[in-house]
This record gives sequence, C-alpha cells and structure tokens, in this order.
Amino acid sequence: MPTKYKAMVLSCIDPRFQSKVFNFLNKKNLKGKYSYFTIAGAAIGVTAPKFKKWHNTFWENLNTSIKIHNIKKLFVINHRDCGAAKIVNGKKEFNNQNETLIHQSSFKKLKKKFKKKISKT
Ligand SMILES: [Zn+2]
Repeated sequence: MPTKYKAMVLSCIDPRFQSKVFNFLNKKNLKGKYSYFTIAGAAIGVTAPKFKKWHNTFWENLNTSIKIHNIKKLFVINHRDCGAAKIVNGKKEFNNQNETLIHQSSFKKLKKKFKKKISKT
C-alpha cells in the first residue's frame, strides 16, 4: 500500500515566508501530505551549536513523524536574510557570502544526521 504521507517539511518561523512556503508546497502537490516543523533558521536552528537546546526537540518530532506518518523524506526550506543566520554569524559582517556558508554548513550537517537516522528505521 502506498504511503499517504511524503515527508516532514522543516522551515523557518520568519513571517515573510509562511504563505510562500505554503503556496510552494501546494504547487508541488503536497497539500495534506506532509508534517510540518517550523523553527527559527530551519536547518540552521536544528544544527547550529548556538541553538543547541532546540536540536533534540526537532529530532524527537522527526522520530515521531517517521513512526506515526511513515515518512521517508525531509524537505528543508531555508531562506535568505534569515535572522537565525545573522545570530550564528555573530559580530562578523553579515554579507551574502557569509550567509551562504552558514546555510551550506547547516544543510550538510542536517543531511548527514538525517541519512544516519533514516537508515536505522
Ligand atoms: Zn529565517
């Protein structure tokens, strides 16, 4: 029997992007087919040492969605001009290049940990 649910979606709490993310997921035919976890910075919030207290909550929620929704995928939607990226950036100049590095690092860490987790299920 095919799985009804496709993925967990991880996105940022930034109010500028809520309807954009929702519309994007609808356009991708994912309406009603995903669980949704929203946290400041999306991938940054669940990987950066600065937000360490948040990480476990995300992984426990993901575990729950894997168990009860039988999801196999995680869709991650970070965005530009992210406040969480600015916090991680610290006192350095916040420019496009530094922000890109922060996003890339968060995606890399998250992908690695997710692959490890999903291989155990
Ligand atoms: Zn953000």
